[in-house]
Amino acid sequence: MDSRYDRFSDGCAMTSDVDVAIIGGGAAGVATAIFAARLMPSRTVVVFDGAAKLGAKILVSGGGRCNVTNRVVTPSDFSGGNPNIIKRVLAALPVDRTVAFFQGIGVELCEEEHGKLFPKTNRARTVLEALLREATRLGVRTFLEHRVVSIRRDETAFHVATDATTVSADNVVLATGGRSLPKTGSDGSGYRLAEALGHTLVPLTPALVALVLDGEFHQPLSGVSHDVELTVEAAGMKPVRVRGVLLWTHFGISGPATLDVSRHWHRARLEHGDVAVFANLIGGKDVTTLDGELLDIASAKPRIQLSNALAQLFPARLADAMLAELQVSGTTAMAHLSKDVRLKIVKALVRWPLPVLDSRGYAHAEVTAGGIPFTEVHARTLGSKICPGLYLPGEILDVDGRIGGFNFQWAWASAWVVATALARATKTE
Ligand SMILES: Cc1cc2nc3c(=O)[nH]c(=O)nc-3n(C[C@H](O)[C@H](O)[C@H](O)COP(=O)(O)OP(=O)(O)OC[C@H]3O[C@@H](n4cnc5c(N)ncnc54)[C@H](O)[C@@H]3O)c2cc1C
Repeated sequence: MDSRYDRFSDGCAMTSDVDVAIIGGGAAGVATAIFAARLMPSRTVVVFDGAAKLGAKILVSGGGRCNVTNRVVTPSDFSGGNPNIIKRVLAALPVDRTVAFFQGIGVELCEEEHGKLFPKTNRARTVLEALLREATRLGVRTFLEHRVVSIRRDETAFHVATDATTVSADNVVLATGGRSLPKTGSDGSGYRLAEALGHTLVPLTPALVALVLDGEFHQPLSGVSHDVELTVEAAGMKPVRVRGVLLWTHFGISGPATLDVSRHWHRARLEHGDVAVFANLIGGKDVTTLDGELLDIASAKPRIQLSNALAQLFPARLADAMLAELQVSGTTAMAHLSKDVRLKIVKALVRWPLPVLDSRGYAHAEVTAGGIPFTEVHARTLGSKICPGLYLPGEILDVDGRIGGFNFQWAWASAWVVATALARATKTE
């Protein structure tokens, strides 16, 4: 972006008014800046960010490859919030227009399994550099190392204060994200800024985060991954089921299924107290199907040992650990396996208790669940009902997507909604 404005020099405070002050230059903030500058070329759009460089989170996203969006995005890919508003926002910038937008700024996307779209270069840096190049081309000014500490509104304008300066702005976009990965600058201070302007907060929890298990069962399994179905249960709530790949680690469990289920574990604990998590260790097969498969193996290969029979269905290391935990000998020939023991194994496999102690917390979470409630924003604009002229795109709102590019799609689509609303609002000013 425009290097003349990269930093304020000591003691040289900018006092001039701007049309739009965007707080936070993450995915939602930079996209809002680009869309707003395109729609309102004569207006001044500035971005403030507390970090020394923009886009730290984009750079680490998708394992450094940035899962920009997904081929199919629907409201059911999101939790929290209000499904009708989420639907409306997603419809405002459908995936094909997101793909065209990125193509237009020089980022070709290609599809991988489960519809995930990544840059063809396989580098998140391609995405970040293209966004920043486009913002610069459009004359967006950015102020790095300018953490906003307060926003005040009077009858004339907003007054956005950093430690170095105060800027007055006609409109403010609060795109400060959530609390996840605070070392990237998303430390949750935006929630305080919103609260100071009159907003409330749906309680926050980490989401898309690995889970820490009690006991030692998981330890020898570190590195093993396989299909599972995870179920979160608590008194007074409908069980939540998530299917996908689970990765065992030295601290507990990770992998896409765990990350997707983690928000449900956190929310259940927050709202219902005691929570239990069970894993169907063979990808959701029921007792009858699994028992049938074991009987088929026994009749085809009566002399095969139990541990080897189970290893035909899921990883051998997991079979051995599971048999040890159940105190069943793995050397028994299938022909000699009693019905009781067979059923004991099958029942354990479809409902294996996972002693979840906690998640790994915000330091490791990809997103934050909870946030500013949708009841406090206008569905059409994501503008505040409480503080006119304030807009709230991105993760700061009470919405979180599952793994697969959905959170970035929310950032792009909500940025588009806010930018078009700003363009309409400034036309009538
Ligand atoms: C490790 C990891 C991997 C991920 N991978 C993917 C992926 O591949 N695909 C996907 O869809 N999603 C992914 N996500 C989630 C995605 O990155 C976020 O949902 C998205 O970045 C949210 O965008 P945002 O702009 O709302 O907030 P953020 O990206 O968090 O940006 C907020 C910005 O505001 C700034 N800020 C905060 N407070 C202040 C303040 N007081 N003053 C000034 N500036 C402030 C911060 O410095 C930051 O730059 C990943 C997240 C993580 C942590």
